[in-house]
Amino acid sequence: MAQADIALIGLAVMGQNLVLNMNDHGFVVCAFNRTVSKVEAFLANEAKGTKVIGARSLEEMVAKLKRPRRIILLVKAGSAVDDFIGKLVPLLETGDIIIDGGNSEYRDTTRRCKELRAKGILFVGSGVSGGEEGARYGPSLMPGGAKEAWPHIKTVFQSIAAKVGTGEPCCDWVGDEGAGHFVKMVHNGIEYGDMQLICEAYHLMKDVLGMEHDEMAKAFEEWNKTELDSFLIEITANILKFRNPDGKHLLPKIRDSAGQKGTGKWTAISALEYGVPVTLIGEAVFARCLSSLKDERVQASKLLEGPKMTQFSGNKKAFLEDIRKALYASKIISYAQGFMLLRQAAKEFGWTLNYGGIALMWRGGCIIRSVFLGKIKDAFDRNPELQNLLLDDFFKTAVENCQDSWRHVISTGVQIGIPMPCFTTALSFYDGYRHEMLPANLIQAQRDYFGAHTYELLSKPGEFIHTNWTGHG
Ligand code: NAP
Repeated sequence: MAQADIALIGLAVMGQNLVLNMNDHGFVVCAFNRTVSKVEAFLANEAKGTKVIGARSLEEMVAKLKRPRRIILLVKAGSAVDDFIGKLVPLLETGDIIIDGGNSEYRDTTRRCKELRAKGILFVGSGVSGGEEGARYGPSLMPGGAKEAWPHIKTVFQSIAAKVGTGEPCCDWVGDEGAGHFVKMVHNGIEYGDMQLICEAYHLMKDVLGMEHDEMAKAFEEWNKTELDSFLIEITANILKFRNPDGKHLLPKIRDSAGQKGTGKWTAISALEYGVPVTLIGEAVFARCLSSLKDERVQASKLLEGPKMTQFSGNKKAFLEDIRKALYASKIISYAQGFMLLRQAAKEFGWTLNYGGIALMWRGGCIIRSVFLGKIKDAFDRNPELQNLLLDDFFKTAVENCQDSWRHVISTGVQIGIPMPCFTTALSFYDGYRHEMLPANLIQAQRDYFGAHTYELLSKPGEFIHTNWTGHG
């Protein structure tokens, strides 16, 4: 008998937690997993005493679902998703809905949307952020794909999502095809950027100001009461304070070689592909790559000289505030760049994206959650057609208020020899973006000189000219 509101396939940690979250919100969930013994184990343990039901086969699961059938896949991204879709389609009817909540690549989602639409099935690719904790108690959800599915899944999705402010859910419809997974990818890229910016601030505090761990923790706690109020700043304070049972801080003992799973890289690749200068996320990915060359860096550190100046001689308290402002300004640039990429993707794929809605989806539940995202939402509420965040009065003024500190931190850090790839690329972007005239006129002349690629004159845009630069041939 059809009794379940929704089914979920994939009982690893994310799937189990999402099932329990849906159960908490009053939905009857039917759980299934490739290895069927995990269904029994889940029902007997984590889901004991709940309304969750199980299925031992896909046929049994489908038979237990109310119509239109709603099935969430939370399995390993890639072929596992296609395998399950292939097995489900013969069991489903026109108008049934398959939702992929894994970290799928947005192009795969677009392909699946098209293939399934041809078969009458509505496919949704939803970004799910917030890790295990988010899945259990309120993730940020970014669904996109077949919009006709939205009225049928909206209540479930918005009930289980994280809430902010006066109970606004961190979940709304993102857009067509792979838009939900694209937005999730950019979210992850921005997460790389935010983390690297915090690391650069930490490096400056430690090596320029010579601050102790507890002192740095205190600074981050204070910063968390300012515009920087966010989950990542909060956990950074906790990490800096953390001591092993021997009473010593753990952080300095951790090998300084960062891992990555690839979503930051995908964002940077998309930025290159669509020609959008998302420089900060790119630098954040490269910073992880450089960090992973640990053995090579250990050798180089013994051979390569840095600057003569290694000591900071200014006012330490004032410089700490300068670092905070440099971090804030750089973060504004990173989000401005991320939204530039979203805007370009919308253009490429003909998606209509609700930028304020996206900021709200990231405002809570996910790793980049912050008060700052509320300000971005406000900016898009003021002007939904906003070309660039930097042109919004609030962010324009915020960057201007930070800029002296930002320049001072970067010039001091450079003189002392501290690597700050994200602080510096953010400032270079700002300076590039605000220049009416860049030296690209010379690039055009060079291209025309050696390759007859032609150039336009400022006075005659659209008219392409070639010059014989050497006067012969
Ligand atoms: P996972 O380790 O990515 O995937 C395990 C699940 O996938 C199990 O149910 C497993 O079934 C199934 N599976 C693996 N290969 C399969 C195949 N070839 N055919 C059919 N089923 C297969 O689990 P997870 O960490 O819970 O993540 C689930 C999805 O959410 C992933 O796409 C992940 O990237 C995404 N995600 C994870 C997080 C996180 O914090 N972990 C956050 C956001 C999104 P068996 O039990 O039979 O092996």
